[in-house]
Amino acid sequence: MSNLLSVDEALALILARVETLPAERVMLAAAATRVSAETVVSAVDVPPFRSSSMDGYAVRSVDLPGTLAIVDHSAAGRPSDATLGANQAIEISTGAVVPEGADTVVPVERVEVTGDTVTIPEPVPTRDNIREPGGDVRIGSALVSPGDVLTPARLGALAACGIESVMAHRVPRVTIVATGTELRPPGEPLARGQIYESNGLMLAAVLEAAGGAVTRLAAAEDTEDAHAASLEQALEADVVVTSGGVSVGPHDLVRLVQARLGVEEVFWGVAMRPGKPLAFGCRGRTLVFGLPGNPVSALVGALLFVRPALLALTGHTDPAPPFRPGLLAAPISQRPERDDFVRARVTWGEDGALVEPIVGQESHMIAHTTAATGLAWIPRGSGSLPAGSRVRFLPL
Ligand code: AMP
Ligand code: MG
Repeated sequence: MSNLLSVDEALALILARVETLPAERVMLAAAATRVSAETVVSAVDVPPFRSSSMDGYAVRSVDLPGTLAIVDHSAAGRPSDATLGANQAIEISTGAVVPEGADTVVPVERVEVTGDTVTIPEPVPTRDNIREPGGDVRIGSALVSPGDVLTPARLGALAACGIESVMAHRVPRVTIVATGTELRPPGEPLARGQIYESNGLMLAAVLEAAGGAVTRLAAAEDTEDAHAASLEQALEADVVVTSGGVSVGPHDLVRLVQARLGVEEVFWGVAMRPGKPLAFGCRGRTLVFGLPGNPVSALVGALLFVRPALLALTGHTDPAPPFRPGLLAAPISQRPERDDFVRARVTWGEDGALVEPIVGQESHMIAHTTAATGLAWIPRGSGSLPAGSRVRFLPL
């Protein structure tokens, strides 16, 4: 593992192997967070008719100020058929059709009602509180384009135009395999030398949030047969994520068994800490990630590499981790050979984000990591970064 790739090189090699998954028709109700594969054009104007934006009175502005006869009501979904004549008003509610003849709506707060008449003491300009047809969406205009994430607002806009389904990229099937003879599921008693299996659950949480349909297999013991059985099954998925067993120990069997099962290794080893012995390969279109077993290493590897791959598979056009600028709150020494991904507490001050490394930076310290709200990227180097240095961090 002498020729370690940089983090950017490793990500580029991964993304070069991603083929965006095919599109399928999805009902809007199931499309949240997916990515559109098509341009959707509105077949209607929104609003579809001239409507009121206030509760009040639809009137003719030429009649104002004045006292007008209330001749009808127009409620949302129950339009008035009347045509407004001189010195007449129609009571109107928000979202109701503005009747023929009316050119403005006076809010109820600015009128005085006496019996069947309404007095409007001030002149009012035309078109006040009237929403024009097509004022939000014009017929024929594009609502979403390929690569657009189906955000809540986009789903709302599509539904507002009467659209019920959209072509969206398929959800990637992700299978997670934890490896390690020492691993026991939470809830069972531990024998001497055993620990609880925590990576599977944690990685599933990251990858479900990134749009994956995740299956977790039972932890595989450190034998070639156990690895082969699990990996064979896992390789049916679009993405395989293993944890553990990718380092240089005698029980690190993941790469060996993957090679035997036809996985072409693209790289092994990234110049980063934690998470150096990360492996990536492919079998056909299946992407295969070997994350180290230490929980913080596995988490960092998932955030920096697996999550972007999932986003790219699902059609996101900008899948790279969204690092942001911040200022170091305390000095930090650089590592000569590896970029350091330091767990940090991020607070917001007058100068933007302030990034303060937490206590407990060892790669098994997953519980300490819960105090971190950001992952600070400290580039390798021979010196030390003083407090106030500009760094980039990934919000956690
Ligand atoms: P490995 O990469 O297999 O050498 O594992 C490195 C360290 O991470 C060891 O201390 C393992 O016991 C621990 N470890 C491996 N897999 C898991 C897991 N799924 N959950 C929690 N700890 C693990
Ligand atoms: Mg192991």
